[in-house]
Amino acid sequence: MNAIPSRPVADPPADLDCTAFAKGLFIDGEWRRTVARIAVVDPSTERALAEVADAGVAEALAAVEAADRAAPAWRAKPPRERSEILRRCFELMVERADMLAALISLENGKALTDARGEVAYAAEFFRWNAEEAVRITGDLGTAPSGANRLLVDYAPIGIAVLVTPWNFPAAMATRKIAPALAAGCTVVLKPASETPLTAYALADLYRDAGVPDGVVNVVTTSDPGAVTAAMLDDPRVRKLSFTGSTGVGRTLLAQAARSVVSCAMELGGNAPFIVFDDADLEAALDGAMIAKMRNAGEACTAANRFYVQSGIYDRFAAGLVARMAAMRVGPGSDPATQCGPMITRKAVEKIERLVADATSRGARVLHGGAALAGLGYFYPPTVLGDVSADAMLMHEEIFGPVAALRRFETEDEAVGAANDTEYGLASYIFTRDLQRGLGVARRIESGMVAINRGLVSDPAAPFGGVKQSGLGREGGHHGVLDYLEPKYIAVSF
Ligand code: NAD
Repeated sequence: MNAIPSRPVADPPADLDCTAFAKGLFIDGEWRRTVARIAVVDPSTERALAEVADAGVAEALAAVEAADRAAPAWRAKPPRERSEILRRCFELMVERADMLAALISLENGKALTDARGEVAYAAEFFRWNAEEAVRITGDLGTAPSGANRLLVDYAPIGIAVLVTPWNFPAAMATRKIAPALAAGCTVVLKPASETPLTAYALADLYRDAGVPDGVVNVVTTSDPGAVTAAMLDDPRVRKLSFTGSTGVGRTLLAQAARSVVSCAMELGGNAPFIVFDDADLEAALDGAMIAKMRNAGEACTAANRFYVQSGIYDRFAAGLVARMAAMRVGPGSDPATQCGPMITRKAVEKIERLVADATSRGARVLHGGAALAGLGYFYPPTVLGDVSADAMLMHEEIFGPVAALRRFETEDEAVGAANDTEYGLASYIFTRDLQRGLGVARRIESGMVAINRGLVSDPAAPFGGVKQSGLGREGGHHGVLDYLEPKYIAVSF
């Protein structure tokens, strides 16, 4: 086993005061303090960064009330004005990119380069939806009988509750807030309590960009089950957009059913990464490093299972080991870091369990394979070879820097293995034969497929999964449609 690079210790950037983003809950344009607090921990050092407010049901319902009060004026605002406010959010995010990236890498642990990439991606949702806000059209048709005209108008769906995970604290919020505001909806955001500071830093930004009070409200809580359930039971809430694990998604779908709330679900993934013998080896390795190691593997689109054809398997495995071994592990805020810590100790323990299970079923550790000792939740880049099909990590999200490799012989075998999962979010295919790439892309059961690329996400494209990876799409033209309800009007001219 190769040696694990040592870990430097870095202090947070001196000029970044995390407590400045812990002013309270953001409700109706004001900061509301609470007695209860939630500690935010730096996963690189296990030190507390700040304490944010902890909302109960009463505060969450006050946020719904604020969103409801703000709704009539916001939906009546001319689309051009909504568009210009969204454009200003984009510009301010670009201006504040360094600060936001530093904050994300502190509270989430991701490498600063990944955090910068996230801020750029997150900002694009404002630019894209500023453009969408003025392009929301309707339809006009003629009834088949010829008796009347069919007019379809698109109206904002109503108050939206947005629940987001910790792995992309900025982008998962803006991917929901920007299209909701473009459509004329007001929102309550409940960010993950592991990474709330970014959500509150963005609340400052919305206010500076001219988003009226109450249009965006942000509440953090240590009791997400009760708080979200209370908001979903409030008849004024008409939309739930959730990004997170499939298990919590199932619970929320059941809760939303009580008030028949429209649901968008961006859930877990188990992405296959298929390399055919004819692939460009260097391109496949470049793609693998992005698909596996962006955010240290803590991405729903992360390559979870590598299926590599026999003729290229040994060269691919050796190349991947060389690249993984060269990665620098360290605190996210250190500019030299390429692989930061996991979000919590629990996340490291889950990876340890999955790796132990895989090796007990015959997988070979080609690199890494053991958590790092000391402070911080570090797990090193790891490559496992000859992983058996029944290993747990071929069926559940690893959510960490572990690449599990398995050989295949035929295209049918690869497609069968790729589809042998309840998930269907993203897939990756590497081949020089575009006809085969497109053919396999159509046979794979996933909402998104990358051919000869390690990155699928694009604010201009519909992001989302099939099977138990979710319902609905975010981004592209589809994103804004999620926050609009068609209203059909039968008209006799
Ligand atoms: P999680 O499901 O534990 O939490 C997500 C959010 O739901 C958090 O805000 C959390 O506080 C909240 N939550 C937890 N329990 C809840 C409950 N009972 N009721 C209401 N809200 C509750 O997920 P996570 O660990 O924060 O994020 C990782 C998961 O998110 C992974 O499964 C990943 O694949 C998924 N994810 C999916 C996408 C996508 O676009 N499909 C993007 C990013 C992450």
